[in-house]
Amino acid sequence: MIKLGKFSFGVGDRFTLQGKAQLRAIIRANEKGLEITPVWNKSNREHIYVGTVPADTRKEADEAVKALNYKGKYFVDADHINMNTVSKYVETSDFFTIDVASFIGKESSKEDVDSFIESCKKYIGQLQIPGIEYPINITKKLLQEIAGKFLVASQQASEIYTYLKKEKGEGNFITEVSMDEVESPQSPVELLFILKMLADRGVHARTIAPKFTGRFNKGVDYAGDLEQFAKEFEEDILVIDYAVKEFGLPDDLKLSIHSGSDKFSIYPIMSKIIAKHDKGLHVKTAGTTWLEEVTGLSVAGGDGLRIAKKIYKNSYNRREELCAPYADVIDIDPALLPSVKDVNGWSSDKFANTLRHIPDHPDYNPNFRQLIHVAYAVAAQMGDEYTDMLIKHADIIGACVEENIYERHLKRLFNI
Ligand SMILES: [Zn+2]
Repeated sequence: MIKLGKFSFGVGDRFTLQGKAQLRAIIRANEKGLEITPVWNKSNREHIYVGTVPADTRKEADEAVKALNYKGKYFVDADHINMNTVSKYVETSDFFTIDVASFIGKESSKEDVDSFIESCKKYIGQLQIPGIEYPINITKKLLQEIAGKFLVASQQASEIYTYLKKEKGEGNFITEVSMDEVESPQSPVELLFILKMLADRGVHARTIAPKFTGRFNKGVDYAGDLEQFAKEFEEDILVIDYAVKEFGLPDDLKLSIHSGSDKFSIYPIMSKIIAKHDKGLHVKTAGTTWLEEVTGLSVAGGDGLRIAKKIYKNSYNRREELCAPYADVIDIDPALLPSVKDVNGWSSDKFANTLRHIPDHPDYNPNFRQLIHVAYAVAAQMGDEYTDMLIKHADIIGACVEENIYERHLKRLFNI
């Protein structure tokens, strides 16, 4: 039975050239006494935009591990797969993020709802979850609502899980169930019964990714009520603890946070709460490495800076089209985007400081950063012109990627 480990960190790499730099950052953290498992995650959408296939991510991970003589475990995550996309990942992935968000709220049969409620009878009344201050009032009506929202989604998770079990053999892969790409967050009590549904259907999830309160915009910090987030996060952890014992789920089941990259202000909150309860955590990042490639190109100056400016120009001119698929997860004020003419006059420093995620830097512009975040298709369409530059300036870019993951992410997240 393979295990993910207590702490794991998901790195995404659109152009599959930064695997070694990413792994270097994780090794540095592990040298400080941590044991963080690296996971290379890539969604189907990213593969399509960039023109890569799942085998490319596997190759990148294996090569990085070999080159750095890394001896720990590592995984390749088929991120946000569904029944239509899972098959092409079967061979090369050993971590599967089963995305059932689009099945939330789909109607199930009265029979299924009734039998679910029947199976929850013993929880009706005041349910006290150890560690949570107040008892939760469980009513039949609440159970009915929860069944209405999540029963079909859990059924879908089960179908994909069953398929994977058949293809890969039970215990040979890590299963995550994700519901984060939706508008309304799932409450801790909803999470409790989602976990029951998964357990009832034999889905041995190791990580679960609910939607939390607040905005998880791409590439920029968390926007929302930090206290509310802390409360929800802690209650979710306690709910998982209870669900593991009560429903017989794997005892290493942990929360997965799909960060949308750089949620720096909630990192110390999560760090404190997992330490308090001695729990594990999985955090996914994806676009932050691509942004470091563009930063690194600007730092390189000359032809590198020229390419960085060209990416901005093309992104700016195509911003509506590029932003459309990400409308729910970005907040860009077009009035605060610099003009192409202005950017063309910028120095290396000015460009890098505007893009780099250092929130209190006077040049930092989250509008600029979010636009570049969603614009990796622009670089993909530049083909070799872009990737040749990545290779030419590999040292500078690799240093940016490593520094970003180690200094800005891992240090904050694991209190190094
Ligand atoms: Zn996600």
